[in-house]
Amino acid sequence: MSRFLNVIPVTDAVRAAEKIAPAKKTERVPIEQSSGRVLAEDIFADTDIPGFDRSIVDGYAVRSADTTGASDAIPALLNCTGRVLMGIHDPALALCTGACIYTPTGGVLPAGADAVVMVEYTDEAGDTVLVKKAVSHGENVLQKDEDFMKNRTVFTRGRRLNPQNIGVLAACGYSTVAVAMKPVIGIISTGNELVTGVTVPEPGQVRDANAPMLAAWLADYGCIPRFYGIVRDEREAFEAVIAKAITECDVVILSGGSSKDDRDMTAAVIATQGEVLVHGIAIAPGKPTIIGKIGSIPVFGLPGHPASAFVVLIAIVRPLLDAMLGQNRSLVRTTNAVLSVNVPSARGREEYVRVKVENGIATPLFGKSGLLNTLVASDGLICIPAGYEGLEKGSAVSVILW
Ligand code: AMP
Ligand code: MG
Repeated sequence: MSRFLNVIPVTDAVRAAEKIAPAKKTERVPIEQSSGRVLAEDIFADTDIPGFDRSIVDGYAVRSADTTGASDAIPALLNCTGRVLMGIHDPALALCTGACIYTPTGGVLPAGADAVVMVEYTDEAGDTVLVKKAVSHGENVLQKDEDFMKNRTVFTRGRRLNPQNIGVLAACGYSTVAVAMKPVIGIISTGNELVTGVTVPEPGQVRDANAPMLAAWLADYGCIPRFYGIVRDEREAFEAVIAKAITECDVVILSGGSSKDDRDMTAAVIATQGEVLVHGIAIAPGKPTIIGKIGSIPVFGLPGHPASAFVVLIAIVRPLLDAMLGQNRSLVRTTNAVLSVNVPSARGREEYVRVKVENGIATPLFGKSGLLNTLVASDGLICIPAGYEGLEKGSAVSVILW
């Protein structure tokens, strides 16, 4: 067996990952519990929103033509003929020429009115209202269906819901909503040197940073992480834990042991129980990455270095999760920035560089992939395409935000 990895381009690896994504499963949840979930149905408004023309200020509903030329010096004098009550549509309350009707914020605009004068620009003198400012047609009025029109699509499936969206769902008459089920993602840390966070490491040992980091990101992304503990680089232990994980999870992620050292077992074990589809991706950091499949369960082998594992999670695993969740890929958050310095890169592999972004300036944080600190200080990644020897200072870049 060759000791070198046969690397493939990132786009091919992403395609390979997306191809093995298990089919999306959906469930209905109460809308209040749907924030962060990916919509699995299109959303329609069952009524016009708002359902009637309404005032957006406290003031007097008027015919705008009756206020033409009104000013502090020469107010328009209108006869107040009624008051709109909140939550009530009184068809009898209609406006005649030369009249006005008091309307609170959100009140139904009376028939015949086409604008509202803010109360601040009026004075009362008995039944007469002095209007000291002209209003134009439609001023201070929210038109019926101005927000959303009955039977129109408000949101399409694939959107990740946020609290604002949930306000709209409620306004559209939804109490529950169909969303993608949360995929269960198994996490296995591998390595004889690893100990859990509560253990003080002896010389030669390191604490497992990857499992909690991967779990936290996955939970934020709408998955259910399930941790299978630290596995030593021993064949039987490895095989047993993977065999268990694939029966309980939708996807399994291993970290460590993904390269080609004698102690690196991930590829061999996946090959025994299933199939290795990719071993080696033209990505830096993250080259010794495995994409495999056991039965219908995708199994990833991520490099052990925390920064490498995280970059591969974002660049390679996330597209598979998006496919599983039915999430529209265009919703990945990016920001445009300009590079503060030259960034070198090796031709032939796509390079992901961690950057910090401030006021539109992206500054690379060069660091060995074994270090956690550049990961913490960074806001996201820029990608230097495979055909480039680097990017020059001043280049426009798109930063994939964490
Ligand atoms: P490996 O990919 O197994 O060759 O590991 C590469 C490097 O990452 C080694 O220095 C490991 O000690 C380190 N490493 C592996 N797994 C973890 C982990 N879960 N947390 C922190 N460091 C790790
Ligand atoms: Mg290892």
